Amino acid sequence: MTKNAANDTNIDIDIESHSFTVSVLRRFIWIYLLIATALALSLAYIQFQYTQNLEKTMLAQEEAFVTSTTQALQKEMQIQLMVLQMSTRSKALVDFLENGTLASKKGLESLFANLASTFLRYDQVRLLDIEGNERIRINYISPSLEIVKPANLQNKKHTHYFQEGIKQPKGKVYVSPMELNVEHGEIEVPYKPVIRFATPVINKAGETVGLMVMNYLATELLQNFRDQMELRINGQGMLIDPEGYWISNHDRSNEWGGSLDTVTQKFQDQYPQAWPTIQKNDDGIFHSDRGIFRYVSINPFSLDSIGKYQAEQAINLSVSEQSRQQNNWKLIIFLPYDVMNQSSFFYKPVGRVILASLFIGSAAILLLLLIMSEQKRRRLRYDLFIKNELIDLYENAPCGYHSLDKNGSVIKMNQTELNWLGYTRDEVIGSSFTDFLTKDSVPVFKQFLKNLHFDKTIEGVVLEVQCKDGHTFFVSTSATSILEKGYFAIARTSAFDITERIELEKRLDHIANTDVLTEISNRRHFFMQASQILEAEDHVSLLMIDADHFKSINDNFGHDIGDIVLKFIAASLQKTLPEEAILARIGGEEFAMLTTGIDKKDAFEVANNICELLANSKIKIDDQLTIEVTLSIGITQRINANEDLNDLLKRADVALYFAKTTGRNKAVQSTEETEA
Ligand code: GH3
Ligand code: MG
Ligand code: MG
Repeated sequence: MTKNAANDTNIDIDIESHSFTVSVLRRFIWIYLLIATALALSLAYIQFQYTQNLEKTMLAQEEAFVTSTTQALQKEMQIQLMVLQMSTRSKALVDFLENGTLASKKGLESLFANLASTFLRYDQVRLLDIEGNERIRINYISPSLEIVKPANLQNKKHTHYFQEGIKQPKGKVYVSPMELNVEHGEIEVPYKPVIRFATPVINKAGETVGLMVMNYLATELLQNFRDQMELRINGQGMLIDPEGYWISNHDRSNEWGGSLDTVTQKFQDQYPQAWPTIQKNDDGIFHSDRGIFRYVSINPFSLDSIGKYQAEQAINLSVSEQSRQQNNWKLIIFLPYDVMNQSSFFYKPVGRVILASLFIGSAAILLLLLIMSEQKRRRLRYDLFIKNELIDLYENAPCGYHSLDKNGSVIKMNQTELNWLGYTRDEVIGSSFTDFLTKDSVPVFKQFLKNLHFDKTIEGVVLEVQCKDGHTFFVSTSATSILEKGYFAIARTSAFDITERIELEKRLDHIANTDVLTEISNRRHFFMQASQILEAEDHVSLLMIDADHFKSINDNFGHDIGDIVLKFIAASLQKTLPEEAILARIGGEEFAMLTTGIDKKDAFEVANNICELLANSKIKIDDQLTIEVTLSIGITQRINANEDLNDLLKRADVALYFAKTTGRNKAVQSTEETEA
């Protein structure tokens, strides 16, 4: 391979690999786009379903919490009403307020102390007169109980609970909003969330004589609420008052906006999207951009939670409408999408790794499959190309191809050979190959087929083929035997048209063996033929034939005329040639004849006939000129089997000489006399 050729191949390979990559990548991009889209859609659907389910599950979990919390808050408030009712039934209240007896004072003090120490929820239990003066006051600061001395009692006329409470008719209770306790004008620290229950004390005449006030300490209530909240997944549960201030919040710095000047945040500030819905409705679910709100109104003074009948039996006190409104809290649970997603498989690191692997893995697998399929496609294409190439080579090769079974029937034949023969494929398949051979070639072919049982290959066997239109030509066939189970089964044969070669050979043979002037065999051919005959035959006669005085013919008429005479002699000899005899011009005007199968006498007669024929012939050169010529012939036979042609020639020559010297125009049989 030259350097350039090598470079060309490299370029071919480069182009090939480039187109391979482009083809694979192009298909990869399209298919992967589809797969990735389908994958993404499926995953999105799964995630959607998952989120929906999660939402449902989480909300279902919240439901129990919402119900229990609501009930707990309501019950707690009902209990306070019951306690208040129990306390206001005491006759000592009116008695003390109207008469100021010491006995009733002591009785009331011990009643109030009992309440505080039994329920542990009352920061203060007080009795006020209609002027707003504290008349009896029990302070309970866990764990100590204090009956406040008269000197330390205060006037509470200007407090809102006094103002509102004293206005209430018999059986009505004023309940303050939940607020932080204020002592001497300052918010008490640590914060004390308090709800004040105030109900008037009425005498027999139906006149209001004082006010019974209980400060309910909501610390424990709220702590319980927070504890419950913390058990939940994200802990984002809150209680808000009707204005939107937080009574309880997971972020405690937001609490008590209603009481503290430092806290201004309201629910509606932080969740403006959710507020209108939550404010308007008592119970429901709201989906905002950031998450889901589950909300429910807790009206702690609704009797629903403890059963209406039982409640009516037990409690004769009712809460004023204003009290209801200002204590209509809302329990709100917020489930941010972030938190929900965090528990989603897809948002977990493992999930993300799996997700990424899914995309990368599918890409890798796809790429691998595409490379493999492209390789296969190319291999198939290449195989097909090679196959077609081979078929083309086989069918249209410049030589014939055929395959024969062991009996010589045609299994397969290429188009070239079919064209030569002039048959269609159907006509030849199954036929014996001998049907397409000349009679002479059939035995050659049979031998050829037989040899293939033993020889793997046979080359250059010449057969003469017989075409459909009758014409024949020669082919040189070579065959390879194909074995089946060790035995010759198929001959795969090629055939070359060698007509031209055969003709050339024949021409060369003719040229080599033929005398140019007379067109009979030349000396060389005669010697060859004669030697072969002598190998097989003992009974042969050799005739040496020489033109008499030929020199004078040349001299008298010219060399050309001499040639005409020589041709005439040759033609005459050919005419008289016995069967199975050979004839040649072996010298200038000398001829030789070798006969087989006839005896000495017959040979002599042949010679005499020849002499006679020529002697009686007039060779017409033209209208004016005819020439006569005579021949002298010397004849001899093979005396013993060891004699070769030269031996015979010498003896015949002697006999010829004898004929020449004894008058010419005669045949002389070699005898002992001639030899002498
Ligand atoms: P003889 O009877 O003794 O044989 O006499 P002759 O003249 O035939 O014998 P010789 O051997 O003396 O002469 C043979 C002659 O044949 C001589 C030669 O010129 C002639 N000759 C040989 N070859 C050719 C040829 O091809 N053409 C012609 N025209 N003459 C030839
Ligand atoms: Mg001569
Ligand atoms: Mg002569």
